[in-house]
Amino acid sequence: MNNDNPGFDTLAVRSGQQRTAELEHSEAIFATSSFVFENAAQAAARFAGDEPGNIYSRFTNPTTQAFERRLAAMEGGEACVATASGMAAIMSLCVALLKSGDHIVSSRSVFGTTTTLFDKYLPRFGIQTSFVGMNDLDGWKRAIQGNTRLLFLETPSNPLTEIADIRVLADLAHENDCLLVVDNCFCTPALQRPLEFGADLVVHSATKYLDGQGRIVGGAVVGPEQLVAEEIFGVIRTTGPSLSPFNAWVALKGLETLSLRMQAHSQQALQVARFLVDHPAVEQVYYPGLQSHPQHRLAQSQQHGFGGVVSFVVSGGRASAWRAIDATRILSITANLGDVKTTITHPATTTHGRVSDELKRQVGISEGLIRVAVGLEDLDDIIDDLSRGLDG
Ligand SMILES: *Cc1c(COP(=O)(O)O)cnc(C)c1O
Repeated sequence: MNNDNPGFDTLAVRSGQQRTAELEHSEAIFATSSFVFENAAQAAARFAGDEPGNIYSRFTNPTTQAFERRLAAMEGGEACVATASGMAAIMSLCVALLKSGDHIVSSRSVFGTTTTLFDKYLPRFGIQTSFVGMNDLDGWKRAIQGNTRLLFLETPSNPLTEIADIRVLADLAHENDCLLVVDNCFCTPALQRPLEFGADLVVHSATKYLDGQGRIVGGAVVGPEQLVAEEIFGVIRTTGPSLSPFNAWVALKGLETLSLRMQAHSQQALQVARFLVDHPAVEQVYYPGLQSHPQHRLAQSQQHGFGGVVSFVVSGGRASAWRAIDATRILSITANLGDVKTTITHPATTTHGRVSDELKRQVGISEGLIRVAVGLEDLDDIIDDLSRGLDG
């Protein structure tokens, strides 16, 4: 690019592309597992690391690299490495940066499978995790030990949209020689760039808003060259959770419309949240864009929009929640989010179904809670669809 300091949307549309000799306008998909060498000496030089270039698509692939360069530019990070899924991103960074005897402090309000990784699998390799309330700063402080290496969180949290103060937790991490990792799935770099607030690493599930149309599973880690391009990349090229070129291409093209989609998701979600606040069958609404949200100001200071996820509690517990969900005709009953299609789910029996009753109480997942990831259908149709079950 010629422009010295392109804006966010220009980066989203233009950065990372390297045209081939065919001068294709749109980015090409390099559907190839390996790459050929001019001669045996070049092969040797590539393998020895003396000459840059592609060898094999478990290591690098031009389409995947285009996605990585673009996402790094959008997050304001030095480097990005793509992974086969969001969980592969989190697993790879743990394998790369931790060893037996190390300790993680994690927000209690993280993606369920992340909790399972921290709670069930990492302890087999001698890595323990303490879970704390996301906004309990004293809790974070108390949980940090001499062997703590990572602080981990998601903001806004799923499903209750609590907001963490990234700068405060980044400072806490650095005072204790730890890294702060932020899962930026809900906001994406279009709405929030955690590295600007001092986070060390950002992880993504590209499955969600980066693709944005529910077509692929993918993930990524963004951060400093040394951590990402060397340590985490080293684990990925060795252990194999690399992103396929086709999936990388879908996510790459998704980034081009990310900003517009995130603004549209945010606008629609705010209208849905306001409708729910006024509805007599609804006891409580969780959406950071509402003035009544306890961290509305913090969300305003750290985000450029409030995102597409709205959660709410209906009176009458599980029976009422299921009735409202089953009365929808347009909304998709599915646990995924980050799609142009609106999705609706009952966290207590799906995403958090395996979580103990005690933990559900601690994180505030009640039987009347419904989570909606507001899509881009006509707003009136979304609201009509929700009304049917709530009014009845
Ligand atoms: C979905 C999700 C993940 C895991 O991503 P996959 O692509 O499903 O592996 C991690 N974090 C958050 C916040 C998610 O929503």
